[in-house]
Amino acid sequence: MDYQAILEAIRDEITPHLHKGKVADYIPALASVPKGKFAMTITLESGEQFSVGEHAERFSIQSISKVFTFTLALGHYGRRLYKRVGVEPSGNPFNSLVQLEYEHGIPRNPFINAGAIAVTDALVSYYKDEYRALEAILDFIRQISGEAGITFDHEVANSEMEHGDRNLALARLMKSFGNFDNEVLSTVKTYFKHCAVTMSTDELSRAMLYLAFGGIDPVSGRKFATPSQAKRINAVMLTCGHYDASGEFAYHVGLPAKSGVGGGIVAVVPGRLSLAVWSPALNKHGNSYAGTLALEKFTTKTGLSIF
Ligand code: GLU
Repeated sequence: MDYQAILEAIRDEITPHLHKGKVADYIPALASVPKGKFAMTITLESGEQFSVGEHAERFSIQSISKVFTFTLALGHYGRRLYKRVGVEPSGNPFNSLVQLEYEHGIPRNPFINAGAIAVTDALVSYYKDEYRALEAILDFIRQISGEAGITFDHEVANSEMEHGDRNLALARLMKSFGNFDNEVLSTVKTYFKHCAVTMSTDELSRAMLYLAFGGIDPVSGRKFATPSQAKRINAVMLTCGHYDASGEFAYHVGLPAKSGVGGGIVAVVPGRLSLAVWSPALNKHGNSYAGTLALEKFTTKTGLSIF
Protein backbone atom coordinates (compact mmCIF):
# COMPACT_ATOMS: atom_id res chain seq x y z
CA MET A 1 0.00 0.00 0.00
CA ASP A 2 1.26 3.51 -0.83
CA TYR A 3 0.89 5.01 2.64
CA GLN A 4 2.60 8.27 1.71
CA ALA A 5 0.14 8.91 -1.13
CA ILE A 6 -2.78 8.03 1.16
CA LEU A 7 -1.58 10.48 3.83
CA GLU A 8 -1.14 13.23 1.24
CA ALA A 9 -4.64 12.65 -0.11
CA ILE A 10 -6.04 12.80 3.44
CA ARG A 11 -4.17 16.04 4.15
CA ASP A 12 -5.56 17.66 1.00
CA GLU A 13 -9.11 16.56 1.82
CA ILE A 14 -9.11 17.70 5.43
CA THR A 15 -7.37 21.08 4.87
CA PRO A 16 -10.71 22.91 4.32
CA HIS A 17 -11.91 21.54 7.70
CA LEU A 18 -8.98 22.73 9.82
CA HIS A 19 -10.74 25.91 10.93
CA LYS A 20 -13.75 23.98 12.28
CA GLY A 21 -14.07 23.29 16.00
CA LYS A 22 -12.49 25.12 18.91
CA VAL A 23 -9.04 24.91 20.53
CA ALA A 24 -9.29 23.87 24.22
CA ASP A 25 -9.36 27.06 26.27
CA TYR A 26 -10.19 25.74 29.72
CA ILE A 27 -6.43 25.19 30.00
CA PRO A 28 -5.30 28.76 29.14
CA ALA A 29 -1.80 27.69 28.07
CA LEU A 30 -3.36 25.55 25.33
CA ALA A 31 -5.65 28.29 23.99
CA SER A 32 -2.81 29.97 22.08
CA VAL A 33 -2.06 26.98 19.81
CA PRO A 34 -2.95 28.03 16.21
CA LYS A 35 -5.95 26.21 14.71
CA GLY A 36 -4.47 25.52 11.27
CA LYS A 37 -1.92 22.92 12.45
CA PHE A 38 -2.13 19.40 11.10
CA ALA A 39 0.15 16.37 11.23
CA MET A 40 -0.30 12.66 10.72
CA THR A 41 2.16 9.75 10.98
CA ILE A 42 1.95 6.03 10.30
CA THR A 43 4.50 3.60 11.78
CA LEU A 44 4.89 0.08 10.38
CA GLU A 45 6.12 -3.08 12.11
CA SER A 46 9.66 -2.41 10.85
CA GLY A 47 9.63 1.08 12.37
CA GLU A 48 9.39 2.68 8.94
CA GLN A 49 7.36 5.88 9.07
CA PHE A 50 5.21 7.91 6.69
CA SER A 51 4.20 11.44 7.66
CA VAL A 52 2.52 14.62 6.47
CA GLY A 53 2.20 18.12 7.92
CA GLU A 54 3.98 19.33 11.06
CA HIS A 55 4.86 15.81 12.11
CA ALA A 56 8.02 16.69 14.04
CA GLU A 57 6.38 19.46 16.08
CA ARG A 58 5.64 18.56 19.68
CA PHE A 59 2.25 19.35 21.20
CA SER A 60 0.50 18.65 24.50
CA ILE A 61 -0.48 14.97 24.53
CA GLN A 62 -2.99 15.47 27.39
CA SER A 63 -5.23 12.43 27.79
CA ILE A 64 -3.18 10.29 25.42
CA SER A 65 -0.82 9.96 28.41
CA LYS A 66 -3.58 7.93 30.09
CA VAL A 67 -2.85 5.01 27.76
CA PHE A 68 0.74 4.97 29.03
CA THR A 69 -0.13 5.29 32.73
CA PHE A 70 -2.80 2.58 32.36
CA THR A 71 -0.24 0.25 30.75
CA LEU A 72 2.31 0.94 33.47
CA ALA A 73 -0.18 0.45 36.31
CA LEU A 74 -1.59 -2.74 34.76
CA GLY A 75 1.96 -4.08 34.59
CA HIS A 76 2.43 -3.46 38.32
CA TYR A 77 -1.00 -4.31 39.70
CA GLY A 78 -2.55 -6.68 37.14
CA ARG A 79 -6.24 -7.34 37.78
CA ARG A 80 -6.05 -5.74 41.23
CA LEU A 81 -6.18 -2.39 39.42
CA TYR A 82 -9.83 -3.06 38.52
CA LYS A 83 -10.83 -2.78 42.16
CA ARG A 84 -10.18 0.93 41.78
CA VAL A 85 -11.30 1.63 38.24
CA GLY A 86 -13.74 -0.07 35.83
CA VAL A 87 -13.72 -0.69 32.08
CA GLU A 88 -17.17 0.57 31.04
CA PRO A 89 -17.78 3.55 28.75
CA SER A 90 -18.97 6.50 30.82
CA GLY A 91 -21.47 8.08 28.43
CA ASN A 92 -20.63 11.27 30.31
CA PRO A 93 -18.20 14.17 29.80
CA PHE A 94 -14.59 13.37 30.69
CA ASN A 95 -14.64 15.42 33.89
CA SER A 96 -18.10 14.59 35.25
CA LEU A 97 -18.53 14.51 39.02
CA VAL A 98 -22.11 13.27 39.10
CA GLN A 99 -21.44 9.72 37.91
CA LEU A 100 -18.57 9.34 40.36
CA GLU A 101 -20.87 10.27 43.22
CA TYR A 102 -23.60 7.76 42.47
CA GLU A 103 -21.08 5.02 41.66
CA HIS A 104 -19.41 5.39 45.07
CA GLY A 105 -16.09 6.83 43.99
CA ILE A 106 -15.13 4.07 41.51
CA PRO A 107 -14.52 5.72 38.10
CA ARG A 108 -16.04 4.00 35.09
CA ASN A 109 -12.75 3.60 33.18
CA PRO A 110 -9.08 4.67 33.23
CA PHE A 111 -9.52 7.23 30.44
CA ILE A 112 -12.00 9.63 32.03
CA ASN A 113 -10.26 12.10 34.32
CA ALA A 114 -11.32 10.45 37.59
CA GLY A 115 -10.11 7.04 36.37
CA ALA A 116 -6.79 8.42 35.19
CA ILE A 117 -6.28 10.27 38.47
CA ALA A 118 -6.98 7.00 40.36
CA VAL A 119 -4.38 5.27 38.14
CA THR A 120 -1.86 8.05 38.89
CA ASP A 121 -2.61 7.58 42.60
CA ALA A 122 -1.92 3.84 42.24
CA LEU A 123 1.41 4.66 40.56
CA VAL A 124 2.35 7.15 43.31
CA SER A 125 1.69 4.36 45.86
CA TYR A 126 3.72 1.85 43.85
CA TYR A 127 6.73 4.14 43.45
CA LYS A 128 6.37 5.46 47.03
CA ASP A 129 6.35 9.15 46.09
CA GLU A 130 5.10 11.45 43.36
CA TYR A 131 8.54 12.38 42.03
CA ARG A 132 9.55 8.79 41.45
CA ALA A 133 6.15 8.04 39.95
CA LEU A 134 6.50 10.91 37.48
CA GLU A 135 10.04 9.85 36.59
CA ALA A 136 8.81 6.28 35.99
CA ILE A 137 5.98 7.52 33.75
CA LEU A 138 8.36 9.72 31.75
CA ASP A 139 10.89 6.90 31.56
CA PHE A 140 8.21 4.52 30.26
CA ILE A 141 7.18 7.00 27.54
CA ARG A 142 10.85 7.50 26.60
CA GLN A 143 11.34 3.75 26.31
CA ILE A 144 8.28 3.00 24.18
CA SER A 145 8.99 5.94 21.87
CA GLY A 146 12.76 5.46 21.80
CA GLU A 147 13.10 9.22 22.45
CA ALA A 148 15.20 9.99 25.51
CA GLY A 149 14.44 13.73 25.35
CA ILE A 150 10.70 13.54 26.01
CA THR A 151 9.50 15.67 28.90
CA PHE A 152 6.55 17.80 30.03
CA ASP A 153 5.73 21.47 29.59
CA HIS A 154 5.81 23.26 32.97
CA GLU A 155 3.69 26.16 31.76
CA VAL A 156 0.87 23.83 30.66
CA ALA A 157 1.07 21.81 33.90
CA ASN A 158 0.92 25.01 35.99
CA SER A 159 -1.91 26.37 33.90
CA GLU A 160 -3.89 23.17 34.53
CA MET A 161 -3.18 23.41 38.24
CA GLU A 162 -4.44 26.99 38.37
CA HIS A 163 -7.70 25.89 36.75
CA GLY A 164 -7.76 22.40 38.25
CA ASP A 165 -10.65 22.71 40.69
CA ARG A 166 -12.80 20.11 38.98
CA ASN A 167 -10.00 17.52 38.85
CA LEU A 168 -9.15 18.25 42.48
CA ALA A 169 -12.82 17.78 43.32
CA LEU A 170 -12.84 14.39 41.55
CA ALA A 171 -9.82 13.30 43.58
CA ARG A 172 -11.34 14.53 46.86
CA LEU A 173 -14.61 12.76 46.08
CA MET A 174 -12.70 9.49 45.48
CA LYS A 175 -10.83 10.05 48.73
CA SER A 176 -14.14 10.46 50.59
CA PHE A 177 -15.14 7.02 49.28
CA GLY A 178 -11.79 5.49 50.32
CA ASN A 179 -10.57 5.14 46.71
CA PHE A 180 -7.50 7.36 47.05
CA ASP A 181 -4.33 6.63 48.99
CA ASN A 182 -2.02 9.61 48.66
CA GLU A 183 -2.08 13.32 49.22
CA VAL A 184 -4.63 14.83 46.80
CA LEU A 185 -2.77 17.97 45.72
CA SER A 186 0.59 16.40 44.91
CA THR A 187 -1.04 13.41 43.17
CA VAL A 188 -3.25 15.61 40.99
CA LYS A 189 -0.16 17.72 40.19
CA THR A 190 1.55 14.54 39.00
CA TYR A 191 -1.50 13.79 36.84
CA PHE A 192 -1.30 17.30 35.30
CA LYS A 193 2.40 16.85 34.62
CA HIS A 194 1.94 13.62 32.68
CA CYS A 195 -0.93 15.23 30.74
CA ALA A 196 1.48 18.09 29.91
CA VAL A 197 4.02 15.80 28.19
CA THR A 198 4.78 17.07 24.69
CA MET A 199 5.34 14.75 21.73
CA SER A 200 5.11 14.91 17.95
CA THR A 201 2.94 12.62 15.81
CA ASP A 202 6.16 10.84 14.73
CA GLU A 203 6.97 10.10 18.38
CA LEU A 204 3.43 9.19 19.40
CA SER A 205 2.88 6.89 16.46
CA ARG A 206 6.16 5.14 17.24
CA ALA A 207 5.26 4.89 20.93
CA MET A 208 1.98 3.09 20.16
CA LEU A 209 3.58 0.30 18.15
CA TYR A 210 3.65 -2.07 21.16
CA LEU A 211 -0.15 -1.99 21.26
CA ALA A 212 -0.41 -2.96 17.60
CA PHE A 213 1.79 -5.99 18.27
CA GLY A 214 0.45 -7.69 21.39
CA GLY A 215 2.49 -5.68 23.90
CA ILE A 216 5.87 -6.24 22.25
CA ASP A 217 7.62 -3.46 20.39
CA PRO A 218 8.50 -5.21 17.09
CA VAL A 219 11.45 -2.89 16.46
CA SER A 220 13.33 -3.33 19.73
CA GLY A 221 11.77 -6.69 20.69
CA ARG A 222 11.05 -5.29 24.15
CA LYS A 223 7.94 -6.37 26.00
CA PHE A 224 5.85 -3.54 27.47
CA ALA A 225 2.64 -5.48 28.18
CA THR A 226 1.46 -9.08 28.04
CA PRO A 227 -0.67 -10.06 25.01
CA SER A 228 -3.71 -10.22 27.28
CA GLN A 229 -3.03 -6.74 28.69
CA ALA A 230 -2.49 -5.33 25.19
CA LYS A 231 -5.80 -6.84 24.11
CA ARG A 232 -7.57 -5.23 27.05
CA ILE A 233 -5.92 -1.82 26.65
CA ASN A 234 -6.99 -1.81 22.99
CA ALA A 235 -10.53 -2.85 23.99
CA VAL A 236 -10.75 0.00 26.50
CA MET A 237 -9.41 2.43 23.87
CA LEU A 238 -12.10 1.27 21.44
CA THR A 239 -14.95 1.57 23.93
CA CYS A 240 -13.77 4.49 26.10
CA GLY A 241 -11.03 6.33 24.19
CA HIS A 242 -13.18 9.29 23.12
CA TYR A 243 -15.24 10.06 26.21
CA ASP A 244 -18.96 10.28 25.52
CA ALA A 245 -18.27 10.20 21.76
CA SER A 246 -16.57 6.79 21.91
CA GLY A 247 -19.46 5.02 20.19
CA GLU A 248 -19.52 7.59 17.41
CA PHE A 249 -15.75 7.31 16.93
CA ALA A 250 -15.90 3.49 16.79
CA TYR A 251 -18.78 3.79 14.31
CA HIS A 252 -16.96 6.20 11.98
CA VAL A 253 -13.34 5.06 12.36
CA GLY A 254 -13.45 1.50 13.70
CA LEU A 255 -10.07 1.43 15.45
CA PRO A 256 -8.86 1.36 19.08
CA ALA A 257 -7.78 4.96 19.65
CA LYS A 258 -7.29 7.60 22.32
CA SER A 259 -7.70 11.34 22.03
CA GLY A 260 -6.42 14.26 24.09
CA VAL A 261 -7.66 17.85 24.39
CA GLY A 262 -4.36 19.03 22.87
CA GLY A 263 -5.86 17.80 19.58
CA GLY A 264 -3.88 14.59 19.28
CA ILE A 265 -5.33 11.14 18.59
CA VAL A 266 -3.39 7.85 18.59
CA ALA A 267 -4.76 4.68 17.02
CA VAL A 268 -3.66 1.13 16.25
CA VAL A 269 -4.44 -1.34 13.50
CA PRO A 270 -3.67 -4.58 15.39
CA GLY A 271 -0.99 -6.66 13.70
CA ARG A 272 -0.32 -3.95 11.10
CA LEU A 273 0.62 -0.45 12.18
CA SER A 274 0.16 2.44 14.59
CA LEU A 275 -0.95 5.99 13.80
CA ALA A 276 -1.01 9.45 15.31
CA VAL A 277 -2.78 12.57 14.10
CA TRP A 278 -2.82 16.15 15.40
CA SER A 279 -5.09 19.06 14.75
CA PRO A 280 -5.79 21.32 17.74
CA ALA A 281 -9.38 22.43 17.11
CA LEU A 282 -11.83 20.16 18.98
CA ASN A 283 -15.43 19.07 18.47
CA LYS A 284 -17.99 19.53 21.24
CA HIS A 285 -16.92 16.30 22.94
CA GLY A 286 -13.29 17.45 23.27
CA ASN A 287 -11.89 15.32 20.44
CA SER A 288 -9.89 16.74 17.49
CA TYR A 289 -12.36 17.69 14.77
CA ALA A 290 -10.07 17.29 11.76
CA GLY A 291 -8.10 14.48 13.43
CA THR A 292 -11.23 12.35 13.74
CA LEU A 293 -12.10 13.10 10.13
CA ALA A 294 -8.56 12.19 9.00
CA LEU A 295 -8.75 8.82 10.76
CA GLU A 296 -12.15 8.13 9.25
CA LYS A 297 -10.69 8.85 5.82
CA PHE A 298 -7.74 6.58 6.60
CA THR A 299 -9.89 3.54 7.39
CA THR A 300 -12.19 4.28 4.45
CA LYS A 301 -9.32 4.56 1.96
CA THR A 302 -7.31 1.59 3.24
CA GLY A 303 -10.01 -0.75 4.53
CA LEU A 304 -7.81 -1.11 7.61
CA SER A 305 -10.36 -1.02 10.39
CA ILE A 306 -10.87 -3.84 12.87
CA PHE A 307 -14.35 -4.51 11.49
N1 GLU B 1 -5.40 17.33 31.54
C1 GLU B 1 -6.73 17.38 30.98
C2 GLU B 1 -7.73 17.52 32.09
O1 GLU B 1 -7.55 16.93 33.11
C3 GLU B 1 -6.93 16.14 30.18
C4 GLU B 1 -8.21 16.16 29.43
C5 GLU B 1 -8.13 15.47 28.09
O2 GLU B 1 -7.15 15.47 27.36
O3 GLU B 1 -9.16 14.93 27.75
O4 GLU B 1 -8.70 18.21 32.01
